[in-house]
Amino acid sequence: MDDLFIEDEIKDLREKIAYYNTLYYKKAVSEISDFKFDQLVKRLQYLEKKYPQYIIDDSPTKIVGSDVSDNSKIIAHKIRMYSLENAYSLNEIKIFIDKIQKVDERTVTMTTELKIDGFSINLFYENGKLQYATTRGDGFEGEDVTENIKTIKSIPHEINYKRPIEARGEIYFPIKEFKRINKIREKNGEKLFANPRNAAAGSIKLKDVEVVASRKLDSIIYSVGLFNDPNINTQYELLDFLDEQGFNIVEVGYVTGIEEITSQCEKWEQSRYDLDYEIDGLVIKVNDFQLQQKLGFTSKSPKWAIAYKFKAEEVETQLLGVDFQVGRTGAITPVARLKPVYISGSTVSNATLHNEDEIKRLDLRIGDYITIIKSGEIIPKIIDVNYQKRESGSKEIEFPKICPVCGTILKKEEDGVITYCININCPAQIQRRIQHFASRVAVDIDGLGEAVVKQLIEHKQINKVQDIYHIDFDEFQQYEKQGEKSAENLKNAIENSKIQKFHKILFGLGIRYVGARTSKILCSHFKNIDEMINADYDDLVEIDEIGEKIARSVFEFFRNENNLLMIRSLQEVGMKMVSENIETDDILKGAKFIITGSLSNYSRNEIKKLIEKNGGKVISAVSKNLNYLIAGENPGSKLKKAKEIGSVNIISENEFLKMIGIDK
Ligand code: AMP
Ligand code: ZN
Repeated sequence: MDDLFIEDEIKDLREKIAYYNTLYYKKAVSEISDFKFDQLVKRLQYLEKKYPQYIIDDSPTKIVGSDVSDNSKIIAHKIRMYSLENAYSLNEIKIFIDKIQKVDERTVTMTTELKIDGFSINLFYENGKLQYATTRGDGFEGEDVTENIKTIKSIPHEINYKRPIEARGEIYFPIKEFKRINKIREKNGEKLFANPRNAAAGSIKLKDVEVVASRKLDSIIYSVGLFNDPNINTQYELLDFLDEQGFNIVEVGYVTGIEEITSQCEKWEQSRYDLDYEIDGLVIKVNDFQLQQKLGFTSKSPKWAIAYKFKAEEVETQLLGVDFQVGRTGAITPVARLKPVYISGSTVSNATLHNEDEIKRLDLRIGDYITIIKSGEIIPKIIDVNYQKRESGSKEIEFPKICPVCGTILKKEEDGVITYCININCPAQIQRRIQHFASRVAVDIDGLGEAVVKQLIEHKQINKVQDIYHIDFDEFQQYEKQGEKSAENLKNAIENSKIQKFHKILFGLGIRYVGARTSKILCSHFKNIDEMINADYDDLVEIDEIGEKIARSVFEFFRNENNLLMIRSLQEVGMKMVSENIETDDILKGAKFIITGSLSNYSRNEIKKLIEKNGGKVISAVSKNLNYLIAGENPGSKLKKAKEIGSVNIISENEFLKMIGIDK
């Protein structure tokens, strides 16, 4: 073969591989199969070996090695990773303590731990060896980042403790290291990291272990997931134990009462800048595990812990105008347009305004000087208006009476807060609904973003979600900026979405109040979409963590003809909508359980998993439909209720374990 051609082919291969790599790292998507990708790499390796004159230092064959084919894996957490309730004032901490004292009147001791502003991580050890490390992900499952985590010196690969344990904590960038890396990036003309947390998040998922190793991340551990040890009964003992195992543990204080907590909060708000890592608050936790268990969890976070957040940075800027956006549910959201301003690591030009009441509450006018803060969220919030600086004759903001897109008269929801465009054929809503369905968190159709959806709607190819599966691609490739290649890519992406997981499809349907997490809960409860459609309101509201509002919304969604039509059309093109956890043994087929009181062998979550694995269901409220109540020590009012009903089988933890064939 002509040498000239060889060089071209090599270049071409490198470009392709680099392209797929970037797509994969940055957007977590793959446009080609692992197999095909590997073939490209192999071909390049072959050519480089045969024609060494063309080898270059940063060829993908050199920097990636085995990591390339190694697609990132998703691993389910053994015990869910929860978030934390936030408190922005000491008064909220007081309320938190009062609530606890209602459950237990005795003096409650607590720990105050630094809240590390890093990236949370789950480390699973078995037989004393680190088996894997995952990110928090959505709390139920995270991404496998074991190889990268192993480069962090403070994380032991082996520990003395031999039983299974999930150690949890935070990965962070030491501030010095963060500054060093940014300097290098600046020199290389690379984009700078906004703050240490972003830098940590951006590093932990990198594919190139060596780059990760060169970044010198560090870790701090503060809790566990799966872990059962009768000798450890308090958070304080737990931290001690983790320390003994060789982890870097969090800086902790031991306190009783609001005064001591207050002084800890004040102390750290002052001295936070003396640390070599960033913290954004203190986490206050009930020390005693028994009391923790008694307090339990909300759907998102433990009731026995709270994060006291330090005040966020505030800056002043000017309000240039307000846009009114129509969401996929028809909700009209005002968005403030700001004079661009730098705050907490990035320049912002928009702020959320939530709803009409918020504008009234702030008495906001165009041109006002306003104070904004960024507290965790990407989009900042307006917290204050400087009325002194207001120019005379400034204009009041008028909330529209008609939809800015379709002109339909707007209506307020029953609770009178959110304004909706109730025209379900409103182009803005259609656009958003389809975008939502195609989004990464839903069925994940790469290439079907805002602009393309808009084009397809304009050309009358789609106006409902299900139309996505009947696009005429010959026509599509004639559109402006489109062509054979983009048509081909979109077609493939759409094809691939048909085998998407049930919970992602369900989320994509856009049921009000059903977010990604709720979709998972629903899908783990029903075998398939038909079972879900046929469920009545009572079936739904009984599901653990499904409240009345969600239950009503789900029930009503499936009573709507258009929604059912959409589901049937999606099924017709091959979307299955069946649960994956079909591998249940049917010992407990359909039996409904509630767990109350504290258990001795397993955590509640583990028992819940065991119930579900055996075909049973965990519900939340005691009713005639309840079959079994598993009562641990110090059972709550549920036991009393169950006894009153009479038909409920009240069993102990051990009796339950016997039922499913585990002898304790
Ligand atoms: P947020 O991300 O603001 O909802 O805060 C909750 C997160 O804070 C948790 O999921 C942890 O990842 C993190 N965190 C940092 N330090 C601690 C700590 N000492 N105890 C518990 N969580 C912590
Ligand atoms: Zn409209």
